[in-house]
Amino acid sequence: MAKYEMYRQQVVETAQLLTRKGYLMATGGNLSLRVLGETAMAITPSNYDYMKMVPEDVCILDFDLNVIEGKRKPSVEAGMHVGIYQARSDVNAIVHTHQVYASTLAVLKKSIPALFDEQARFLGRSVEVIPYAPSGTSMLRNVIAKHVKTHNNAYLMQSHGALCFGHDLERAAHNVEILEKCSLAYLLALCTNQKINKIPLAVREIAFAKLRKDQKKVENGNSELGGE
Ligand SMILES: [Zn+2]
Repeated sequence: MAKYEMYRQQVVETAQLLTRKGYLMATGGNLSLRVLGETAMAITPSNYDYMKMVPEDVCILDFDLNVIEGKRKPSVEAGMHVGIYQARSDVNAIVHTHQVYASTLAVLKKSIPALFDEQARFLGRSVEVIPYAPSGTSMLRNVIAKHVKTHNNAYLMQSHGALCFGHDLERAAHNVEILEKCSLAYLLALCTNQKINKIPLAVREIAFAKLRKDQKKVENGNSELGGE
């Protein structure tokens, strides 16, 4: 059905862009896009090479994880994506990666304080670490859904990887890049054993308020469309 074509196309394009840039590797990670006005999403298939992917490979699932369209097995983390969409009506796109520098901090269980203006504006007050739960389990879905309510747009998943959100896939993909830059800068700064300077609290709060304003616009738009 042509109805979901645009969503599937965007998922493939973003997955391949992030693979070319090295944020997604082989078949690791997954990404999804909310279908506006429906309780449904387009999500990457399980264990399938991103560079071989075509729009027909992308799965369309409802929020009970029933397949609306698609022949391939959906990502094992589909439940985690639904949990996020239900917890965050301002999020329309989710990218989950195993990107190296953010994953290093996830292994160290080290959250990233507000180090840069751009970080606070687009990723939120800080990049928090969400406690570990095994991949593909309802335990992971629940722990993620609980922690993303702080309204940041990037999180680290302990001993696993990272999650970035956006009002669309382009924004979520940009957030993946901002997160990796912040992660690398923070790791290098930590290596020096010198004092790490954060941005002033007032600046952080002004930037976060702008992010929240953007998020509320998306929330309102989604509720007008009659989705969840
Ligand atoms: Zn993963």
